[in-house]
Amino acid sequence: MESARENLERYLDIEGILNRFFGLFDFCLTGCVLPELKRNGNQPFAACCKDRYYKVYDLDHPSFDLLREKRESLYGPPEDVTDSSLISPCEYHTSTGCVLTTCKSPICLAFMCRKSIDALRDDYGIYTYDYLGFNYALEWILTGDMSLPDYEEFRQSCLDMINTIEKKSALAG
Ligand code: SF4
Ligand code: SF4
Repeated sequence: MESARENLERYLDIEGILNRFFGLFDFCLTGCVLPELKRNGNQPFAACCKDRYYKVYDLDHPSFDLLREKRESLYGPPEDVTDSSLISPCEYHTSTGCVLTTCKSPICLAFMCRKSIDALRDDYGIYTYDYLGFNYALEWILTGDMSLPDYEEFRQSCLDMINTIEKKSALAG
């Protein structure tokens, strides 16, 4: 169980880094959500959250159990989310998007649609983001199937994407 906790800590560390990355990239809000709200007259919509992805791809593994326990201790179990948008099957989807700022499942954390990956390539020259690859990497971090050297390399590659975005943003100034 101790190693499951250490795996979860590493996973949450990467989640924090990826949250910084997605916050800087900011395509989902500016390139998808805001244009769609403008188009549809401010009607909430599900975007890519079209299933209960917080569990559909989760593995039967103690680390996934720990992730779910931590998520539910912070945000409550899905059936208790009172402001679910009802336009997504996922209870954690509210009218302002996903309520989970941490403790997302790997697929929820890793997912980028084709248009967002294209924007990452076109705007920042980052070609290394393969969402299925990131999903599996996150799963392996959580289950402990990724070695520590590979974890460090993966972690650094995430930090490198942040550096690339920050440098390009500074140049664009
Ligand atoms: S991943 Fe794609 S569909 Fe989902 S919110 Fe971002 S831009 Fe929109
Ligand atoms: S948990 Fe969040 S990211 Fe995952 S499907 Fe639900 S609303 Fe979307």
